[in-house]
Amino acid sequence: MNDSLGNASAASIPELHYPWQSTQWEKLTDVYSSGRLPHALMLSGTSGTGKKRFAGTLANLVLCEHPFDHDSATKGPSPCGHCKNCKLVGAEAHPDIRYFSPEEKSTVVKVDQIRQLNEYISKSSQQGGYKIAIICPAEAMNHNAANALLKSLEEPSQKSLILLIVDQPGRMLATIRSRCQVIDFPMPNHRQSLDWLMLALPNSSLHEDLLELAAGSPIKAYEMSESEAVTQKQSMIKDLAKVLKREATVVSVAAKWQKYELQIVLAWNVTWVQQLIRYSMTSDSQWVKDDTLLKMVQYLAGKHPAGRFYELLDKIQTSCDLVARKTNPNNQILIENLLVGWSELMQKKPV
Ligand SMILES: [Zn+2]
Repeated sequence: MNDSLGNASAASIPELHYPWQSTQWEKLTDVYSSGRLPHALMLSGTSGTGKKRFAGTLANLVLCEHPFDHDSATKGPSPCGHCKNCKLVGAEAHPDIRYFSPEEKSTVVKVDQIRQLNEYISKSSQQGGYKIAIICPAEAMNHNAANALLKSLEEPSQKSLILLIVDQPGRMLATIRSRCQVIDFPMPNHRQSLDWLMLALPNSSLHEDLLELAAGSPIKAYEMSESEAVTQKQSMIKDLAKVLKREATVVSVAAKWQKYELQIVLAWNVTWVQQLIRYSMTSDSQWVKDDTLLKMVQYLAGKHPAGRFYELLDKIQTSCDLVARKTNPNNQILIENLLVGWSELMQKKPV
């Protein structure tokens, strides 16, 4: 039908939004097509739902010279993937899209970065169209940075679009929030996640395991599929059983686990304690799919009330927060503490 489409390399076609975002896409492309696109959008929702890709595709659409309407289930226009602007976007070289994120070794977006944003967004664009700034994650702006952003939100420039990607909406200043149109991005439901993951990983039989580890996020599950996460799970469960039975020491198992990716070690442990809590409260074993783990869960659930397991969960989640804040914890000690928490469950009374 269209030679230029047929001959395009796959790499030049930007990836579109995820299927569970079609409502948000339809809504925003509708306002865009009618010329009512707001100057600031807050894409808000828990991490792992694909907001960044959505923002990138929206930015691409806004810059595309020949957006086209799909005739498939995807509603709303899409970027063509072939015009000069789409090619620049595809090469991550478009001068009128800029990302603002914490710089290396930092956890915050600093005021100097937002001053640069203000200057950039106030000038006319290089290609004659929109200027787009994407702040990701926007809650990483420190107080001064957030206040500096108010300037651009209160006095928007012509043809400018600021996209704030927010994983933790509670951390955003109300003054920022009230000046943006907020679009919510909930986590897809289990069925949607599973369907997508089965298409994305047709040769895997570990979809449920991966989704479990990724706390329901199909995107994180996909990313984890390339790690050793799921194969490590079996051996980690055996290690944990040995620690509980005092057949292995906390130190030796921690030495082994610290060679794994720390976030995955923590994620599995969070999952297991959650399964323990759920079993303890319901005696329903359907969530515990591993036999060794099920034996541990049944034994421990008979020993303590659920409240005791919440203490361990808190402990592990504190470690997760430390890791998320990039505070460079000592992995060996952090994992030893986690295993000590488990082994304390073998004692009769809380310590
Ligand atoms: Zn285009």
